[in-house]
Amino acid sequence: MTPGLGLYLHLPFCPSRCPYCDFNAKTYDHGEARRLLAGLAVHVERIAPRAQGRPLATVYFGGGTPSMLPAAALASLLGQIKELIGLEPWAEVSLEANPGALSQAKLTALRQAGFNRLSLGAQSFSPELLRALGRRHTPQATAKAVQAARRAGFSNLNLDLIYGLPGQSEALAAADLASALELEPEHLSLYELTLSPHTPFGQRFRTGVAPLPGDEEIIDMEQAAKELLEAAGIKRYEVSNYARPGYECRHNQSTWLGGDYLSLGPGAHGHLAGVRWAYVADPPEYCRMVEAGEEPLAMREELSREQRALELILLGLRTVRGVELASLAVLRGADPRRVYAAPLEELRRRGWGLIARGRIIPTEAGLNMADAAAGLFA
Ligand code: SF4
Repeated sequence: MTPGLGLYLHLPFCPSRCPYCDFNAKTYDHGEARRLLAGLAVHVERIAPRAQGRPLATVYFGGGTPSMLPAAALASLLGQIKELIGLEPWAEVSLEANPGALSQAKLTALRQAGFNRLSLGAQSFSPELLRALGRRHTPQATAKAVQAARRAGFSNLNLDLIYGLPGQSEALAAADLASALELEPEHLSLYELTLSPHTPFGQRFRTGVAPLPGDEEIIDMEQAAKELLEAAGIKRYEVSNYARPGYECRHNQSTWLGGDYLSLGPGAHGHLAGVRWAYVADPPEYCRMVEAGEEPLAMREELSREQRALELILLGLRTVRGVELASLAVLRGADPRRVYAAPLEELRRRGWGLIARGRIIPTEAGLNMADAAAGLFA
C-alpha cells in the first residue's frame, strides 16, 4: 500500500487539565482559541503549496479536545483545507472529541461539514475511575454521544480506553471493555496508563506499585482484552489499536508506514520525503510567529536513509503488518537481511519476530515487547 498524503492539525484546548496528561494541552481560553483559529487560517494558506497538488487522503484533528471548539469554526477550518489543498473524495477525516461536549446539533453539523470518523475519549465506564482520572463526563454521556453520533451519520467510531488505572482490577478492566463493546464501535484504542514525572499522577503514584496494578496484572488485562475483542471480531493491528476489518485508522497507518503528512497547529509534527519537523508547542508563541510571517518551527531535520530505514523498523514492529523488506532495501541499498543480520537473529531467538512474505513480522510476544524489540535495532 502506498500511503496518500495526510494532514495532522493540533488543537490544544481542553475543559481542564487531566491529572495524568502529558500532552500538549491546556485549559480552554476563549481569547487564545480565537487567536489560534485566525492563525491557523493564515498558516494553512502558507503550507498548502507543499502538497504540490496532491489531494489529502487523510485529515486528523487531534488535541487536546478539538470538539471543544464550535462546529462552525471546525467546519470552516476543514473547508479551507479542502479548498486550498484538496481532499480525495474517499478521504478519512477524523476528529477527536470529548463525550461530555457533544450535542446532537453539533455532531450533525460536524458530519455535514465532512468529518467522517469520530474518536471519543471514553477512557473508562466506571464513574469512580472517571472521577479519579479527572474526567468530567459520565459513562452515560459516552453512550449518549455514541447514539447521537450514529444518528448524525458517523459510521466509523473509535473509543479510547485507558487501563492500568489506580485501583483497577482485571474484572474492572474487563467490565470497561464489555461496556465499550455494547456500544458497537468500529475501532478501539487501549492505552496503558503511563506516568510522567511532570503530572500530578506521576508525583503521586509509582508504576507497578499499589494502588496501580502490578506488571502481571497488566499483562493479564492485555491478554484478556485481546481475547474479548477478537471474539467480538475486533482485531489488534497495532500495539494499542484494534479495529473491525476495514476500519483501521488510515491516518495513523500511513504515519507508521513512513508516509507523508503535513501539519498545522502548536506542537504538531509533520513529515515529507524524509524531512520531519515540529511546530512550537506554546499556542501564543505559535500565533505570534505565524502573525509575523515566520514559519513557527521548533525543530526541522533531514533524515538520512539509514535513519528513515530505522524509523520504518521502529514503527513497523508496533504493527501486525510489520516492515516490508523491499522498502528497507531501497533505503539501505542492500539486502536488509544482511544489514540487520544480528538484530534479526536476536528478534527470532527471543520469539519476538520472524521473516515471512517479504516482511519482518512481529509475533504477539513481540508486539507486547515492541519497545524492547525496536531497541535491538537502535
Ligand atoms: S482531555 Fe486528553 S488532552 Fe485534554 S487534558 Fe485530558 S488527557 Fe490531556
